[in-house]
Amino acid sequence: MAACTMTMVENNAGIEAVIGNFDVNVVFSEPLPPFPEINTVVDLKGQQHAESNQKGKREIALGRNAIATCFPITEPDDNDESTGDKEAHMASVLARYKKNLLERTKYNLGYAYNFDFDYGALAPLQHFFINNLGDPFVENNYAVHSRQFEIGVLDWFARLWEIEKNEYWGYVTHCGTEGNFHGILAGRENFPDGILYASGESHYSVFKAARLYRMNCVRVGCLVSGEIDCADLRLKLLANTDKPAILNVNIGTTVKGAVDDLDLVIQTLSECGFSKDRFYIHCDGALFGFMMPFIKCAPKVSFKKPIGSISVSGHKFLGCPMPCGVHLTRLEHINAFSNNVGYLASRDATIMGSRNGHASIFLWCALNRKGYKGFQKEVQKCLGNAHYLKDRLCEVGISAMLNELSNTVVFERPQDEEFIKRWQLICEGNIAHVVTMPNVSQEKLDDFIAELVAKRSIWYADQKVQPPCFAAALGSQNCACKLHRI
Ligand SMILES: *Cc1c(COP(=O)(O)O)cnc(C)c1O
Repeated sequence: MAACTMTMVENNAGIEAVIGNFDVNVVFSEPLPPFPEINTVVDLKGQQHAESNQKGKREIALGRNAIATCFPITEPDDNDESTGDKEAHMASVLARYKKNLLERTKYNLGYAYNFDFDYGALAPLQHFFINNLGDPFVENNYAVHSRQFEIGVLDWFARLWEIEKNEYWGYVTHCGTEGNFHGILAGRENFPDGILYASGESHYSVFKAARLYRMNCVRVGCLVSGEIDCADLRLKLLANTDKPAILNVNIGTTVKGAVDDLDLVIQTLSECGFSKDRFYIHCDGALFGFMMPFIKCAPKVSFKKPIGSISVSGHKFLGCPMPCGVHLTRLEHINAFSNNVGYLASRDATIMGSRNGHASIFLWCALNRKGYKGFQKEVQKCLGNAHYLKDRLCEVGISAMLNELSNTVVFERPQDEEFIKRWQLICEGNIAHVVTMPNVSQEKLDDFIAELVAKRSIWYADQKVQPPCFAAALGSQNCACKLHRI
């Protein structure tokens, strides 16, 4: 290193000579270095292992071998432009991929995504790079944005969640996770020494936020339904009355679709001596935050209650074809952590910088097209189908649970990984779930049940191997084991 510096100092002309000789037209025969021979996989703990090449002995681990095939990038041939081979090859790969997408879309029952959409009208906008970077309410110098649509969407949600236009702040996020990150950060910026309380059934993004922000996080117990256990919350609050409380309240948990009792959480805070200026509540409503307002008898999620923020995913019930979300908070909370970034000439209160401007337009279309009445109908249909599935499972003797007002049906975990993969089920411990989204019809549920029943007759052909007891996970009234079956 030292020698090199010396040469540069001593022989400036030499460097110039090298640059002068550099021929920009030289074509390197091998511009990319070859891949290393050994593929490694990284397991859940971040440990690297050499990938096993033994046939039929593919270890399942997160990492390179989780995806069995990839479409390699190949360098264009010199004559590609004239022959059109490259474009033809790409077109065929994409056509096959599209066929595969159609097939895979048919068989998703576990992930709460709504595939029931047609955004053909927006295809011409694909030719634009639309970026709503920064704060939606502060103009910056980048003019190719869709803030007109974004604010229209936010205002619609403000009405849904009952907050005045001049009292809220929010933005269209990249996903529900970003909304959680923002809600919890707003809590921490307002209460720097606050403790985060979240039930064990909270989405992993909540605990991820706690790690990222290095917050003190207290895990609160749950009822069998998956709801937060307010008796446990009380004990944990009382043990920490000297510190403000930041709470994540689930408006629909991921696995069991349980809705935390917001009113009881607020009452518990008050009974434990936490006044409104000593707590911050973030409502994680990824899926159900958007469904609840359309159910007549459901408890309200509303800014009329002392909550700080609400977030939902845009690709779950709303049916956006790209990951996105909507996050709303009180304007007063934003002042605690925004500062000015000179070159953007914009308030900096979002988690990310660049933001997908297309997402706001898709959301704007979905909301305009369906409207309040349209969503109400869809929600009713989904809840009806969830009851249908739960009842059918019970009829055939399968342990199953459905929370009131939820479209997430929880049941025994199927024995066979192939079956789980085929229907793209989400499993946790010994339970699995199906979410009846708007694109899931009763016919599809019938197919699913028929297949499950057929498989079970193979898995449990031997009387000695029977499904376990599900009383602990689903409640004894939902358990179909020998002991609990009536
Ligand atoms: C799906 C989900 C999230 C995360 O949403 P993404 O949009 O996938 O980031 C957060 N919370 C709950 C309860 C969820 O179900």
